[in-house]
Amino acid sequence: MKVLLTIAGFDPSSGAGVTADLAVFAAHGFFGASAITALTVQSTLGVRRSEAVAADLLRETLDCLAADFDIAGVKCGMLANDSNVSVVAGFLRANPVGLVVVDPVLRSSSGASLLDRAGLDRLRDELLPLSTWATPNRQEFAAIADWPADLNLVVTGGAERATDLVRCGGGETRLAGEYIDSRATHGTGCAFSSALLCGLAAGLDGVNAARAAKRYVAESIRTAPGLGGGNGPMRLVRYPQG
Ligand code: PLP
Repeated sequence: MKVLLTIAGFDPSSGAGVTADLAVFAAHGFFGASAITALTVQSTLGVRRSEAVAADLLRETLDCLAADFDIAGVKCGMLANDSNVSVVAGFLRANPVGLVVVDPVLRSSSGASLLDRAGLDRLRDELLPLSTWATPNRQEFAAIADWPADLNLVVTGGAERATDLVRCGGGETRLAGEYIDSRATHGTGCAFSSALLCGLAAGLDGVNAARAAKRYVAESIRTAPGLGGGNGPMRLVRYPQG
């Protein structure tokens, strides 16, 4: 069983962050490990508070996992601050992994900052060059002016909202999707980037991995359990194998 690692924040309501990522990995038949970058206080009603994990604790967690597991792929989500971005970049330099998907999480949909300004600069300068894929939404794409030319990208939420743009292998592909009118949109970015990593780790090419991740998220929104009074969690469906 291949091991995938998520490095991201903890959302106690499990719609987003590491617990959602682990559910996505399990749904795709992978074993999931996790390193938490920040604790948040949140529910479906929004993020109330966020407290970054100490950089040396994050570093020890990553080193501990890398010393024991053969990690097939890494997903980076909320990294919180400059020091934690620096730890993750240092970890990937010391432990090169063939598949690294970065979801450059800047804000929650409720408006809370999930990465500080210096962290964003370091993510651009140090983390993106160590990555194979990034999955910015349109706002995140605009927040970084100079994307590395050889980085594969999926820009989510295009002009027609459900249209994503995949840039890989020197080409661009638009992936049209049906817009689903739903409140169960919490953590869709987290789930998409994790599902993309699963598709790539299963051997799909970039466009097909993005297509599969998009279908997975759409189905997860469509079958959401309707929990909470705000933007609810999806049902992170079991992905049909084979
Ligand atoms: N909380 C954590 C820990 C996250 O990683 C993310 C998104 O990546 C969010 C909250 C934001 O989720 P949403 O945009 O659905 O509010």
